[in-house]
Amino acid sequence: MNKDLLYKKETVYKKLGKETVDAAFAYAEGYKSFLDNGKTERESVDAAIALMSAHGYREYTLGDTVKAGDKLYYNNRGKNLFVFSIGTEDIRNGIRIVASHVDAPRIDLKQCPLYEDGGMAYFKTHYYGGIRKYQWVATPLALHGVVITKDGKTIKVCVGEDETDPVFYISDLLPHLGYEQAKLPLGDAIRGEQLNVLLGNMPEDEENSVKNAVLTLIADKYGITEEDFFSSELCVVPAAKARDIGFDRSMIGSYGHDDRVCAYPSLTALIDSPDCKHTVMCILADKEEIGSDGASGMQCDLMLDIIDAIASSFGVSSALVRANSKCLSADVCCGYDPNFPEVFERMNTAYVGCGAVFTKYTGSRGKSGTNDANPEFIAWLRAAMEEYNVVWQSGELGKVDAGGGGTVAKFISKHNIETIDLGVPLIAMHAPYEMVAKVDVYETHKAVKAFYNFDR
Ligand code: MN
Ligand code: MN
Repeated sequence: MNKDLLYKKETVYKKLGKETVDAAFAYAEGYKSFLDNGKTERESVDAAIALMSAHGYREYTLGDTVKAGDKLYYNNRGKNLFVFSIGTEDIRNGIRIVASHVDAPRIDLKQCPLYEDGGMAYFKTHYYGGIRKYQWVATPLALHGVVITKDGKTIKVCVGEDETDPVFYISDLLPHLGYEQAKLPLGDAIRGEQLNVLLGNMPEDEENSVKNAVLTLIADKYGITEEDFFSSELCVVPAAKARDIGFDRSMIGSYGHDDRVCAYPSLTALIDSPDCKHTVMCILADKEEIGSDGASGMQCDLMLDIIDAIASSFGVSSALVRANSKCLSADVCCGYDPNFPEVFERMNTAYVGCGAVFTKYTGSRGKSGTNDANPEFIAWLRAAMEEYNVVWQSGELGKVDAGGGGTVAKFISKHNIETIDLGVPLIAMHAPYEMVAKVDVYETHKAVKAFYNFDR
């Protein structure tokens, strides 16, 4: 038989060799900085604006007319960013959109968070996104976010990242007294109302409680009162930094790969395409982890408003522009984990080290709640990936009926925009410390660049 008839999945290491691996390792350094500089959507948006401004992108005001050659960004509430570059090609051929998200699962403070119990001061919390609660106890945590005072001042908070900073902590039970807890199902062992963050133990003086002492410290540092917590957005995230994993340093461990591992490549691919003739748009969305609702999530109509502003600048129908647009919903896919082979179907799962992943459908059960990408679009992408020498694979979110999930894909394709999921295979998705391979991040950068530039 002619061996060329067979599809063969191979690693990036084998297919492209040392030159690509070296490039991937160098690329990973910038990505690790992006991770460490952005642990919330607000911080990632700030980091993205700094990066794109340094490459000639300037702020866009809604409704302004655009022209070929414009490189712009629209900052939606500091939490969601649209970066776009207007090409020379006829806008009627559509926009090439890459949408990723920069929010990540974490633990938010409640509205009225500060209290004292047993001589210790705590924050009450409400978790954000699909966390496994037992993973967030007995580990160093940092506090990130903003407090907005009544006079409209924004006070940024970031404690636990500098080596000299204190960190925060959620306790777990000692094994000696954990006999009953150990019998509970994993999801019940630590409950939501137990995720209380430890803040202090030292009273100010004999009359003053620990709570008062902590509040005085916060007031001195930030100039806020307890009531100011009502207009704050404070998030508890892992204090750990992005690090290389393994003797060979081929992988990166970090909080929040999902989905900054797609956001960063979608930005760098834009930087690497200064003369792209197509009009391209890179979206960093918020709220994906809780269903894409809200004015900074992909269910908001803002994307349509921006497409409409671009289309009307050229006197073209935005419906026509959308009809001819294409989108990569850039999000992570699960990578095969040999520690848990029972949840994967080996033929159709993505493997770490085998490149960027195209996921035709997500959803759950009988493909419920998914954008199921069209083969015509996949065929076009195969040609694009081949032309740009991208190593890619297909992926699926585990075995049929093992579980499921979704991305922003369905919130974009519903606007008559051809969409597919593309991303990086990830181990331990939503854990405080997730893991990816450097070559897969780099191939995703190349895949997005191919999508932006492919001339067909
Ligand atoms: Mn995601
Ligand atoms: Mn996620």
